[in-house]
Amino acid sequence: MPFICENVECRAVLARGQVRSSHEDNGWCFYCPDCNTRNELKNIGAPDGPVELVQPERSQPPHRVIATARALDDGRYAAQLRVQRALAVKGTYAVEEHWDELGVFPDAQAAVAHAKSFATDLLERRA
Ligand SMILES: [Zn+2]
Repeated sequence: MPFICENVECRAVLARGQVRSSHEDNGWCFYCPDCNTRNELKNIGAPDGPVELVQPERSQPPHRVIATARALDDGRYAAQLRVQRALAVKGTYAVEEHWDELGVFPDAQAAVAHAKSFATDLLERRA
């Protein structure tokens, strides 16, 4: 089984010989040679046996949430959101959902926070 980069915009399929796994404080991982994204690994080897690394199973393909605030003419901010979902196997991201104006807020931070929480709800609902 090759490894697949979790970065939605990369999704490189990597033979095991192409990646160098490393053990960091928060567990095993490898860095994608194409995009340098940290990819989590799990050791499924027996506690006293050799290390056997696999990528953790995902309940859904990885996704990327891009929450932004767009300044409006009246000084307020519209919450904008893009959600990119990767293909289950490889290739660039498959679907992008886009909301241009989820609501209007007095400041940029509130608009971004709203877009993020909207994304969280959305992703939980479909998981
Ligand atoms: Zn990558």
